Amino acid sequence: MRLNKKGKILIKKAEEIIEKAKGVNLIDTGDVGAALVTSHGNIFQGVSLGFYCGIGSCAEYQAVGAMISNGEKEIEEIVAVWYNKDKRKYKVIPPCGKCREMILQASKKNSNTEVIISENKKVRLKELIPYPWGGSIEK
Ligand SMILES: [Zn+2]
Repeated sequence: MRLNKKGKILIKKAEEIIEKAKGVNLIDTGDVGAALVTSHGNIFQGVSLGFYCGIGSCAEYQAVGAMISNGEKEIEEIVAVWYNKDKRKYKVIPPCGKCREMILQASKKNSNTEVIISENKKVRLKELIPYPWGGSIEK
């Protein structure tokens, strides 16, 4: 699938959260930003974390955490963007395997989540993870 205007806005939101996080000036933290839009139309963002004590997470994890903290679990569309400091450029990156599972486990409906995997392409989550490891954790 090709990106529409909403997808391009989501990419900008992921870049925006990276810019916001730059102010904290931490190593290995904030280089990746994620933005998602829920089935209710709300946008949540997060950045990657990487602390020397071993605590860290992908940006998608932080965005999903913000979403769940606000009482939602169904993701319509999601994107992660990496900031290449050397080139001073943003690059859309696909979610890692753990994040693919996490998004799917949050809601069965998220198998249809549109995942932006490059600057001009998106796919449904079920295409990225055709044989999921775990099922949904929905009650
Ligand atoms: Zn991840």
